[in-house]
Order: sequence, then structure tokens, then C-alpha cells
Amino acid sequence: MSDSISPDYRFCPRCAEPLAPTIRGGLPRPTCQSCGFVHFRNPAVGVAVVLLDEDGRVLLGRRSAGGNVGEWCIPCGYVEWGEDIRDAARREFQEETGIEVKIDDVCAVHSNFHNPASLTVGVWFYATPVGGQARASDDLAEVGWFPPSDPPEPLAFPTDRVVLAHLAHKTPATP
Ligand SMILES: [Zn+2]
Repeated sequence: MSDSISPDYRFCPRCAEPLAPTIRGGLPRPTCQSCGFVHFRNPAVGVAVVLLDEDGRVLLGRRSAGGNVGEWCIPCGYVEWGEDIRDAARREFQEETGIEVKIDDVCAVHSNFHNPASLTVGVWFYATPVGGQARASDDLAEVGWFPPSDPPEPLAFPTDRVVLAHLAHKTPATP
């Protein structure tokens, strides 16, 4: 397991007193000796949307922001505080691809460890288009349809590669 203490947080965000490690739930957590604030270091939740066309091709985007610029990913983003995870998936996909979708079943769930400074849990959803037209925007420079067995390189995230392999196994490329 990754370190439960972030080197980035040394002072209490509530009262600015120094944080000191205290065992909570079996791990040392930075804890404020003054007001009792505990910094729990948890992964963020990411969402990605797997949209397939009639030929089994998947819509991928080339990133223009948010790290890994120029590399390809399954369109994705973060769940905001207070936001339902499926609302987040629908919102991120519409913002980045211009396509409005209905969120369907979960396609995959993976922990992402590729960026040690920003750990996430990713949930990939299948979706059905209900409106809009494909056009890259927000954090994407380009979108395109690709067979899951032959994605463009470089891919931004190792777990996207796992999901694409899963899709390629499920939906073999049409001859
Ligand atoms: Zn405090």
C-alpha cells in the first residue's frame, strides 16, 4: 500500500497548527494536536465512458490538458464532490466529446497507480448515445473511432490498455 502520509501536508488546514502522525484505522495519519483534524489520504474517483459504434470501434480522445498531453485515452474525468458518479461520467463525456449519452452498465473498475502523486480509482461505463455530435473540446484536442485491438499510440493510461484488451476480447474486430 502507498504511504498514508503525504509529504505535501505539514500544517492543519483548519487552524494552521503542525500535523503529527497518529495511528487511525491501523495507519499513521497526519493529525492536528490542536483541533483534532485528521488528513485521510484517499484516492480520487475517476470516470471514463466506453462508447462503441456498430463496428465495435471505441471513441478515444487525444489529450490537450490535465497531464499526458498528446497521448490517447478513453474520455474521462473526475467525480466532483456531491456529484453522482453517473452524472459525472455523462458530464465529462459531453464536455470532452460533444456527445450526449445515457450511462449503461459498468464496463470495468481499476485502481490507477501510474501517477504516485495522484492515485485514483477509475470506473469505466458503457454508454448509449442520445444526442450531440463528436467534436473534441475541453481537455481533448482530437477524437476518433478505433478498434479496441488496435488503439493509437501512445496511450496515456495503463488501465485504459487493460480495458481496451478486455473490449477487444469481447468484441472481435470485424473483418
Ligand atoms: Zn487544527
